Amino acid sequence: MTNLNATRSRFDLPEGLVYLDGNSLGPVPCDAAAAVTRAITDEWGELLVRGWNDADWMESSTRIGDRIGRLIGAPEGTVIVGDTLSLKVYQALAAALELRPERNVVVSDSGNFPSDLYMADGLFRTMGSSHELRIVAPDAVSDAIDESVAVVLLTEVDYRTGRRHDMGALTAAAHAAGALTVWDLAHSAGAIEVDLAGCDVDFAVGCTYKYLNGGPGSPGFIFVSEALIDEVRPALSGWLGHETPFAFDLDFRPDPGIGRMRIGTPPVLALAALDVALDAWEGVEMADVQARSIELSERLIAGVEASCPTLDLASPRNPDNRGSQVAFRHPEGYAVMQALIACGVIGDFRAPDLIRFGITPLYLEEADIDRAVEILIEIMASDAWDTPEYRKRKAVT
Ligand SMILES: *Cc1c(COP(=O)(O)O)cnc(C)c1O
Repeated sequence: MTNLNATRSRFDLPEGLVYLDGNSLGPVPCDAAAAVTRAITDEWGELLVRGWNDADWMESSTRIGDRIGRLIGAPEGTVIVGDTLSLKVYQALAAALELRPERNVVVSDSGNFPSDLYMADGLFRTMGSSHELRIVAPDAVSDAIDESVAVVLLTEVDYRTGRRHDMGALTAAAHAAGALTVWDLAHSAGAIEVDLAGCDVDFAVGCTYKYLNGGPGSPGFIFVSEALIDEVRPALSGWLGHETPFAFDLDFRPDPGIGRMRIGTPPVLALAALDVALDAWEGVEMADVQARSIELSERLIAGVEASCPTLDLASPRNPDNRGSQVAFRHPEGYAVMQALIACGVIGDFRAPDLIRFGITPLYLEEADIDRAVEILIEIMASDAWDTPEYRKRKAVT
């Protein structure tokens, strides 16, 4: 059984704050500053360019990839970190489309994060192709998969409502129709149990600054199944995806493994922070995290529903159909969230009317949920949110 009391002390959370936004940006691990400082002084400072060999900078993308792989059911050697999630979506989709040249439909759903859809659209334009993005309602995805479909491109957990797709069933449906799958794990990795190998997923991508706590702008990751990796031709074929980058050959020959999905120079300092953030996951089983997340989520939902009649649950009620976040609707959700933040409870708002709470058992416990509920009840009962100041929108919501 995972000891989640021990993981809490690994994070530096400001005193008196309840942090329910780890689904957007995880908190800073206590060891992060020292780890980044060490990378700057001992490695960059002392070793200079020798760091690429002597501090294993070059190997860190696959080594850290494997650390993430353990949390998402990916075998060793199938995950690599680098670049941003949006770029990894582009890479995965481009590679998948090339494996289905005779088909021209990509299925996605209207709950997907817009960047994933924008990247698909941009890719089609770059290809000068006649591909069609078939965007359907989340519960209509299965019916939309037919023999014209090349790729099913889905985010497992809806960033707004937390609705969760059935990865196993939809991957099987895609394969039965001869299509490939690209799963976005932005709200899954470190949030819920994921079994990429068990679900026979073809490609998966994700980011590390949400539930994995890698820090603002920490790099994304990509998974390619063992069955496909030999066939995959990276569309963004940078020199560090080459089999022998330091041969400086004029033609691109991909690395034999997942290394081919690397594009360029790894962000060494960001990886130092991510690496130390992943220490918190050592000995942690995702099944335990998910079970705990459900307990805390149920507590939040029960508390809010008992005393805040104007807040409507927007997340699925059945925990099996939910990721690790809870959202409520309110017509003035933005102002409600601003009032909450002013009282030391940090969640966030997603247009048009959702207030969102990330449930992160690595560093949250019952007392945090109870405090958040108590303050929310106070704000709703007193209409404390109803001020011009709280209604004024900031650039990042
Ligand atoms: C957070 C998120 C992104 C963000 O992509 P970046 O390139 O890291 O900015 C993309 N897709 C999904 C589904 C997300 O939740």
